Amino acid sequence: MLKRQVRQADGVCFRPQGRGGSLRTSSQHRFLALGLVLVLLALAVAGCGGGSVTVPNVKRLSVDEAKKVLAENNLQAKVTSELLDDQVPKGHVVNQNPRPGEEVGQETLVQLAVSAGSSGVTVPSVLGKDIEQAKTELAALGLQVRVTKTTSVEPSGTVINQAPGAGSTVTPDSRVDLTVSANFDKTSTRTPAATPSPAKSTGYVVAIDPGHQRRGNAEPEPIGPGSSQTKAKVASGTSGAATRKPEYELTLEISMKLRSYLTGKGVKVVMTRMTHDVDVSNSERAQIANRANADLFVRIHADSSTNPSIEGIRTFYPPNSGWTTPIYAKSSLAATIVQQKVAASSHQKNLGTNIHESQTGFNWSKVPVILVETGFMSNPAEDRFLSNPSSQQAIAKGIGEGVMEYLSRTK
Ligand SMILES: [Zn+2]
Repeated sequence: MLKRQVRQADGVCFRPQGRGGSLRTSSQHRFLALGLVLVLLALAVAGCGGGSVTVPNVKRLSVDEAKKVLAENNLQAKVTSELLDDQVPKGHVVNQNPRPGEEVGQETLVQLAVSAGSSGVTVPSVLGKDIEQAKTELAALGLQVRVTKTTSVEPSGTVINQAPGAGSTVTPDSRVDLTVSANFDKTSTRTPAATPSPAKSTGYVVAIDPGHQRRGNAEPEPIGPGSSQTKAKVASGTSGAATRKPEYELTLEISMKLRSYLTGKGVKVVMTRMTHDVDVSNSERAQIANRANADLFVRIHADSSTNPSIEGIRTFYPPNSGWTTPIYAKSSLAATIVQQKVAASSHQKNLGTNIHESQTGFNWSKVPVILVETGFMSNPAEDRFLSNPSSQQAIAKGIGEGVMEYLSRTK
């Protein structure tokens, strides 16, 4: 409730005062009469005849409430502008002029700026969707769409990247840039992947996630389905102590070699990214694997330590609890097989397997998932080793052999 704030300003405006009983001469009376005229003239010039008013605060009130409060305070009100505002509901006062607390004459006009509603539209995720469906969803929110086509292993017409990413708040009419998979066959909008498949298809699907991306995204996302706990969507990763190579480059180099190995074995490979300039959060990466109904989701990363002498390769898998309980057994088996094969192939120090708790990219996965930390970029020697194409080939081959053995054992 707003207090009624009308008051007569003491000492400014004329107030009749009783003067009865005082004895004055006629010259004194003439002087008083002249003085009274002068005072009245001054008051007329100052417009102070009705007293002054302290402007009440009507911010955040609805226009009707604001007008009512201002009228009670003997002030005029007029809506003079509308503006987009996230905080103030549509039709409520965002700003006022004169400001609250100012002293003004009665019947002064108070100009009101009123909220036209939220300026923000939350961008949904359209990754993995058909471009026509994505366009429809975004248009329904008043968003513009610009499409860029690129070749990829995803079916033609599939959205493989979007900017801004899901969950971003943008103004209405903003443009969302979509990168859409375009296969060489331009006659059909949804054809099988154009990836050369030299080997007879095995029917297996493996999703590969080259860790990180050029620019991290610090926006929060739930660490698992329905969780109120959040983590940054995706980081840009570590970098090489000797080579200065960013982790996101190394992970894509190794991932592309792993992809070649697996497609050569007749496995369908789904990549979470094929370039560095993407914005795909860790939960979205897991959901790409889910949508592909992958037999295994393989995440490729590189390690970092404050101790530059630490080296070796290791494989993580999710815990036997919470979201990942259903995928624990198979993930654990895949980690064991892959770790043994990759260490044997690359001749790196074998650091074994480990459970990794509370990883967004694990928690959102509904398919068995492992994360291979391919070596320590903080160790100058291992960093140089990791950037060597023949080392990368040995690592990719080792992971690939492990994946194939896992697939055959869980058939
Ligand atoms: Zn990493």
